[in-house]
Amino acid sequence: MDSIVKKTDDFIFQTYMRQGKAFVKGEGVFLWDEDGKQYTDFLAGIAVCGLGHCHPKITQAICRQAATLVHVSNLFYSKPQADLAKALCEKSFADRVFFSNSGAEANEAAIKLARRYFQKKGEKNRFKIITMKQSFHGRTMATLTATGQDKIKDGFYPLLEGFSYVTFNDFDALKDELDKTVCAVMLEPVQGEGGVIPADETYLKAVRKLCDETGTLLIFDEIQSGMGRCGTLFAHEQYGVTPDIMTLAKALGNGLPIGAMLATKEAATGFDFGSHGSTFGGTPLATAAALEVLNIISEPAFLDQVRKKGEHFVQKLEGLKQKHPSVVGVRGKGLLLGIEIEKNAAAYVAKMLEKGFIINGIQDKVLRFVPPLIVEEKEIDCLINALDTLL
Ligand SMILES: *Cc1c(COP(=O)(O)O)cnc(C)c1O
Repeated sequence: MDSIVKKTDDFIFQTYMRQGKAFVKGEGVFLWDEDGKQYTDFLAGIAVCGLGHCHPKITQAICRQAATLVHVSNLFYSKPQADLAKALCEKSFADRVFFSNSGAEANEAAIKLARRYFQKKGEKNRFKIITMKQSFHGRTMATLTATGQDKIKDGFYPLLEGFSYVTFNDFDALKDELDKTVCAVMLEPVQGEGGVIPADETYLKAVRKLCDETGTLLIFDEIQSGMGRCGTLFAHEQYGVTPDIMTLAKALGNGLPIGAMLATKEAATGFDFGSHGSTFGGTPLATAAALEVLNIISEPAFLDQVRKKGEHFVQKLEGLKQKHPSVVGVRGKGLLLGIEIEKNAAAYVAKMLEKGFIINGIQDKVLRFVPPLIVEEKEIDCLINALDTLL
């Protein structure tokens, strides 16, 4: 019988550099491979399983909804979709939600909304979107164009027209670029894939002010930083700045594929009947799960413990930095954390896997830690000990 690894490598496009492990079971912060070996998961399916693997309440919500109604299409109404949209609006700056199935699709919706908002008003030349260098917004043609990293675009030219890129946290660069052809500025309040880099507070406030003065829409991609990851429901809450449009995905469904594009009442006027759509977007199944996720994560006590554990984690990482000159920086917010090392993040990731810890390497020099938000301090301490030995 072919192994899982062999079948995968023989029959699936080889677009992913996979670690040579197949996991067969998960519970909380733990995963088990085919041989029954246990791992502590500090990646959570790339910041997706915020509540950990197979959280009983989410499993229950999925099972209940799966046995009731899975899909009807958006030609009709459904209660879980309506309830989730209302809850998202009540818990955020937004007035309206568009549901998608992934982060890239949520960003596609945001890009389309920003352009159409101005085209509907007759401002046909106002279609440019400024994004940040080192950003990540997805893999569709529009979102890879929005992404500020060349390696993501390699081989896919020509790209979509009307995007430009400026250095993150450099207000003057943005100000120089922003003219009357710009419809939106799009950024991650904490860059994830780019290396775990938080925006400066003064920068984000100045960006908001500039957008207000010029009537430009501000889009926050909170696909990674949102849903409690940074210790508040959305990372931007910590900056005292709200966007006009925000995108969510990753942890929204705790593993069920769902994304969302949220907008103010004003920005939402860019879409009318027929201007955008999705067959699967916001199925009863995905939205029932996401509603349960949102209810748990948005509890103030839950968010308090995310911040507390994040502070503990940072303190421990700072300890590693003091001790090991190969650690050159500690960055992040809440439980979206990273350390910058001199080189070869992939080798550290492989060695940690052998030791039973799942972590992630990005940009060759950054080890990223995005554990389930339910991780406990003792599990953080175990990871730190393993890293300490390795460093
Ligand atoms: C993961 C991610 C995306 C893309 O989401 P997909 O679900 O993979 O399409 C977009 N933006 C950010 C910030 C992300 O972290």
